[in-house]
Amino acid sequence: MTIQWFPGHMAKARRQVTEKLKLVDIVIELVDARIPLSSRNPMIEEIIGQKPRLVLLNKADMADPVKTDQWITYFEEQGIKALAVNAQGGKGLHSIVQSAKDILKEKFDRMKSRGMRPRAIRAMIVGIPNVGKSTLINRLAKKNIAKTGNTPGVTKAQQWIKVGKELELLDTPGILWPKFEDESVGYKLALTGAIKDTILNLQDIALFGLNFLEANYPERLKDRYSLDEIPEEILAKFDAVGKKRGCLMAGGEVDYDKTSEVIIRDIRNVQLGPMTFDMIKELESGDI
Ligand code: GDP
Repeated sequence: MTIQWFPGHMAKARRQVTEKLKLVDIVIELVDARIPLSSRNPMIEEIIGQKPRLVLLNKADMADPVKTDQWITYFEEQGIKALAVNAQGGKGLHSIVQSAKDILKEKFDRMKSRGMRPRAIRAMIVGIPNVGKSTLINRLAKKNIAKTGNTPGVTKAQQWIKVGKELELLDTPGILWPKFEDESVGYKLALTGAIKDTILNLQDIALFGLNFLEANYPERLKDRYSLDEIPEEILAKFDAVGKKRGCLMAGGEVDYDKTSEVIIRDIRNVQLGPMTFDMIKELESGDI
């Protein structure tokens, strides 16, 4: 499903999240571990406000583990607890409840000291499309979906999913829009499959991918396409990959669209190994 984001849709998405925020103690913000900043909604801080938050770097199985650790440290330096998870395989998910409890300890201790009855932590998941929200909810749900119709302040019945005894999750995630302002963010979203590549020029996405690979993972680029050296000229790079992969037109010339598709598909399908596209150093230089 591709969502076309227009200002009206963004405003509606924001309203929906804001409305649900009232029902929960904590927001679980899902991002793609390969692009922990490029896959965040640009207004997330404003939308969530003071609400406690846990960031999950999902699809950690496809990201560079060393970089994932660096990003977790980065978030923690901002005072935000972050965990690396794999919603599909289940890795890391067991830490979610304990982390939420740690984050909310003071609030729940206060409630207890005021004589309030202990209750489960209520949480909602938010994130841009394709970061794995539904996968995570389904994985956590198993058979533990509980219908509660009498949540104050809402007319529509909310479905809560019980995650153990101590956490309840809203069954519908908050879907927020991605960043559109920055070209390189767009390329990264396309290379990770967060947005359809029809939105951007195919060859531009592939070019960004090739340049990224050459700069950060040159050996993997050479290995994948059996290149002795990476040619300097951009056209020569495409020619080398296109020839190796048989992306040729009738006259034997390299078909650049086909070559681009191969490069994009290979990166998306992790054929060049797990990779992280957002770098802390870019952040420091203001490039994200
Ligand atoms: P949503 O739009 O945020 O609800 O995203 P989905 O849950 O539909 O997931 C988008 C795609 O990512 C699907 O093809 C999932 O199978 C895949 N996916 C989700 N989580 C993971 C993960 O942790 N690892 C991997 N490799 N794929 C995942």
